[in-house]
Amino acid sequence: MKLDFSQVPLHDRAFSEKPMTFIDEGPKNFLAAILDLVAIETGNRTARENWQQSQLRNLLRHAAHRSAFWRERIGSGDIRDTALAELPILSRSDLTRQVEAEGPLLSPLDRIPTIKHGTSGSSGTPVQFFLSQMNLEYNAVRAAAQYFIEGRDLRLNSTRLRPVLTPSKNGFTVRTDDNPLGSLGPLIPGGIFKYIEYYNPNMEALCEELARDSIGYLLAQPTLIETMLQSVDPTFFKRAGTAMFNPRASAVDTELRDKFSSIGIPVRSTYSSEEVGSIGLECQANAGVYHVSTSNVLVEIIPDASVRTVSGTTGLVLVTHLHSYATPFIRYDLGDIATLADRCPCGHDGPVLSNIQGRSKALLKHPNGRVSTFYVRARELTAIAEFDEYRIRQIALDRIVVEIGGRDSLTPEETAAVVALIRRHAGDEFQVDVRAVARIDWGASVKRLGYRCELL
Ligand SMILES: [Zn+2]
Repeated sequence: MKLDFSQVPLHDRAFSEKPMTFIDEGPKNFLAAILDLVAIETGNRTARENWQQSQLRNLLRHAAHRSAFWRERIGSGDIRDTALAELPILSRSDLTRQVEAEGPLLSPLDRIPTIKHGTSGSSGTPVQFFLSQMNLEYNAVRAAAQYFIEGRDLRLNSTRLRPVLTPSKNGFTVRTDDNPLGSLGPLIPGGIFKYIEYYNPNMEALCEELARDSIGYLLAQPTLIETMLQSVDPTFFKRAGTAMFNPRASAVDTELRDKFSSIGIPVRSTYSSEEVGSIGLECQANAGVYHVSTSNVLVEIIPDASVRTVSGTTGLVLVTHLHSYATPFIRYDLGDIATLADRCPCGHDGPVLSNIQGRSKALLKHPNGRVSTFYVRARELTAIAEFDEYRIRQIALDRIVVEIGGRDSLTPEETAAVVALIRRHAGDEFQVDVRAVARIDWGASVKRLGYRCELL
């Protein structure tokens, strides 16, 4: 290995002016933490696995020591004899029980601040839990580490688009931060970080805003991009300086991925959850395959009755968050299904996940109990009718509701075409209700998934 900074765009005054100091403490610690994560995730497998086992034992010991809930689960025996696979699965309701009864398992004496956090509830019931300061710092370091792992250009801008529930002029607000590289800022002059929050945005104004500065890394939900592509050509994103598309919140459809790839914009997803942070990062060489974030989590796959498995390696995803000291996540059921393999075809010597599907959002349950994947592209709906937004929900075993937002009514032809489209994807056994609504009531859910199954 050659460690060399000739390709790292350092500031002219990047280094310290204090005696016997090379790099000032803030950026130095951040850089050292990046090095830690890269060494663990890309280095010797046995060393990594030994480190993970030590971290697991530390976590189990902490949980058993501080929590009656966990003592009961882990048992009072020697932690060294505890096998992860023998511990009970942690469901969302178990988690809620632990958090409500015991609060955070770090006290002020630990000198590690904790914050209460909750999921948005878009993938089921919202849950509350505690994160520690270390978890937040880890997330920032892990995000920055990916630039080094992939050799991404550190000088480019980042543009993050996030849906919110508050209306504003033109349907979006813009905030700009100086540096997307966090604490590396004093060392490396990154681009700008543009943060756009939107709610029914005026597409023309939004495109104008996006074109104002070079987009760089585009962090956005695929549904927004699909909606934008009704009014702009994919090459708009290229012209506006998009270097890479990093989809957020939901999986990106193959067609959208191909559209971007064909004009030279790679698509690179992240698999993460609000509870545990980074779980996997999409391989540069294999679309849909995610290198597990081994510096953060252990991942297990267990068989699940709702999944027809091709092999024993597809099933329910359980994660153990190695740094979950405030609220332990040990064998936590995320509600997703995926396939786990021991290593990546690209040569990466670490576990990889593929076929990741949110069990509760991407699947359809049939009256005969069978579960299948279900995905309707925004484009298929826009080919039928004009609208601002849409939502498809399975609300009963034989019933699917389609809401078309921004319309007072639909023509009988439009309604019939939507029903036919849904049946083509779901099957003829479903009754499909199509409703025109002025606005879709998303409730507290900011993720605004185009489809959600309310049964799983
Ligand atoms: Zn790979």
